[in-house]
Amino acid sequence: MFESLQDRLGSIFQGLTGRGALSEKDVSAALREVRRALIEADVSLEVVRGFIERVREKAVGVDVLKSVKPGQMVVKIVHDELVETLGADAETIDLNAPAPVVIMMVGLQGSGKTTTTGKIAKRLTDRDRKKVLMASLDTRRPAAQEQLKQLGEQTGVATLPIIEGQDPVAIANRAVQAGRLGGHDVVILDTAGRTHIDEPLMVEMADIRKSASPHEVLLVADSLTGQDAVNLARSFDERVGITGLVLTRMDGDGRGGAALSMRAVTGKPIKLIGTGEKMDALEEFHPKRIADRILG
Ligand code: GDP
Repeated sequence: MFESLQDRLGSIFQGLTGRGALSEKDVSAALREVRRALIEADVSLEVVRGFIERVREKAVGVDVLKSVKPGQMVVKIVHDELVETLGADAETIDLNAPAPVVIMMVGLQGSGKTTTTGKIAKRLTDRDRKKVLMASLDTRRPAAQEQLKQLGEQTGVATLPIIEGQDPVAIANRAVQAGRLGGHDVVILDTAGRTHIDEPLMVEMADIRKSASPHEVLLVADSLTGQDAVNLARSFDERVGITGLVLTRMDGDGRGGAALSMRAVTGKPIKLIGTGEKMDALEEFHPKRIADRILG
């Protein structure tokens, strides 16, 4: 286990009693520990840098109170800044558009895109009583369309019938059309992924987006992603344009630093988190909980 930030700062501020204000020097020593904690939590270096500067501005000159230890005060400043950066208010999927509302799922292969498509479809069907249609636009992996079909059977959500030989844009258009004709409230497009970001993938995603005009474009990303998180989020946001993030594998033992990295570089809200392989393992995002987890 990592030593908590509170404990680390406690030893740094030993001897500083309840008088005066936190000096530049006190704060610098503390921020070295904060920096270390964030890097251990897998927050990308670029994001750590900006974050530390914001905390420095808030912490220098803060009066040390008699009743609160200086370490606790800095932890509180860091915690508040984390919550603010992560997005203080919980946001969820926005369905406020004419039916069928199109949701496009994007992300790398293995990030949990198809699983999350099924989870969201199930939740909208069971909890929100929406009529949902799912479609796999992954024409590269032969089993992908079949995988979504099986998820549909398992969750009781309709999937677009498979027609061999259609390209992703054609499938997207057919899905939206089928959604309209079938009276569906929501159409979820599960796009193809790759093991890494490349030009053809970005072009394909941009084409689908242009053609299907989704109301939501959700980037599904593994919460265990480390330094790559910034690149991943930035590329998808710049090239495709995302409206929100879904972080998967939050049930793992990672510290969740990717959440901070991706939110900080895109400014886009984290809308949901995946907490397991089962179809009901989908939860709202609570910034405070992730802040606690990052700080250990
Ligand atoms: P895709 O290639 O992005 O469509 O990824 P898949 O949806 O096929 O998921 C890849 C693997 O990750 C599967 O074994 C899923 O069961 C698993 N998975 C997806 N989301 C989660 C999650 O939130 N937690 C855990 N533990 N596993 C997940």
